[in-house]
Amino acid sequence: MANVIKAPKRQLTYVTDLNKCIGCQTCTVACKKLWTTGPGQDFMYWRNVETAPGLGYPRNWQTKGGGYKNGELQKGKIPPMIDYGIPFEFDYAGRLFEGKPGRVRPSPTPRSAPNWDEDQGAGEYPNNSFFYLPRMCNHCTKPACLEACPNEAIYKREQDGIVVIHQDKCKGAQACVQSCPYAKPYFNPLTNKANKCIGCFPRIEKGVAPACVAQCVGRAMHVGFVDDVSSSVYKLIKQYKVALPLHPEFGTEPNVFYVPPVLGPRMELANGELSTDPKIPLAQLEGLFGKQVRDVLAILQTEREKKMKGQASDLMDVLIGRRSADMMISPLT
Ligand code: SF4
Ligand code: SF4
Repeated sequence: MANVIKAPKRQLTYVTDLNKCIGCQTCTVACKKLWTTGPGQDFMYWRNVETAPGLGYPRNWQTKGGGYKNGELQKGKIPPMIDYGIPFEFDYAGRLFEGKPGRVRPSPTPRSAPNWDEDQGAGEYPNNSFFYLPRMCNHCTKPACLEACPNEAIYKREQDGIVVIHQDKCKGAQACVQSCPYAKPYFNPLTNKANKCIGCFPRIEKGVAPACVAQCVGRAMHVGFVDDVSSSVYKLIKQYKVALPLHPEFGTEPNVFYVPPVLGPRMELANGELSTDPKIPLAQLEGLFGKQVRDVLAILQTEREKKMKGQASDLMDVLIGRRSADMMISPLT
């Protein structure tokens, strides 16, 4: 029988403004340094930032399956290790200090790595385009990982809705890896346990924002409790309705949302002039965020134009986020 999903008292929620993400990977590194430096975790990036369109990390995760279809839990595939990118080493010591001949080359010779296709995007020059898509566990309202686990090792924390794998209960069945359509639980072959983003709950409990949010160079991230009407996450998701979940059709009801990219460059016409159409194809954005994206882009464009004319726009002020404290609502700082 499937595990019961117990609704939390409150839900911690994240919003990333894709217009502000510069793909610097600071959030990736902040998370990596904090949580996944242990044995067997080399290949894991609980937080990753990939190029869209692109293969993503792990490669082709968008077609791995899992999630829900007509309310039924789907199994999906376990990505092979090559799709995460085999970690490789550079033998600097041998070349620099031990007199080994030849150039410093990575070993083994890499055939793939996370972000192997970084910044490639799609389309024909001069109308090619891409944007950055930061990804993490969505701490879903209907976590497929939780429902799939045969050992009842996964639970939603009552106080904040963060989805956690109880490491003592996990027996390495990998049902979560199979069932999560976002490929966000990772199997550690050395410990025979599944690991995933823990929402930085030890920081949350101290009133400190998650590392990815706190370190974000682009000031692209917001975090807060969505029932707090003064929070920026409430305003972006519920009030202005400009933040959308990634692949809502996967059916897990994510609690990580995105403000779609509207500020990208315009299409270039054959005569060299700029058209009014954006380079990033609407169909691509609809494929990621659903049909609602069209309305969101219109709202953002209208509010942006207001601001450009010197008129007031509360929505643009929320997105600009002049003070970090307003993006990581109290008590998170
Ligand atoms: Fe579980 Fe995947 Fe949802 Fe995270 S994103 S809660 S791992 S189903
Ligand atoms: Fe994007 Fe912020 Fe991460 Fe940099 S730190 S890649 S700007 S989300």
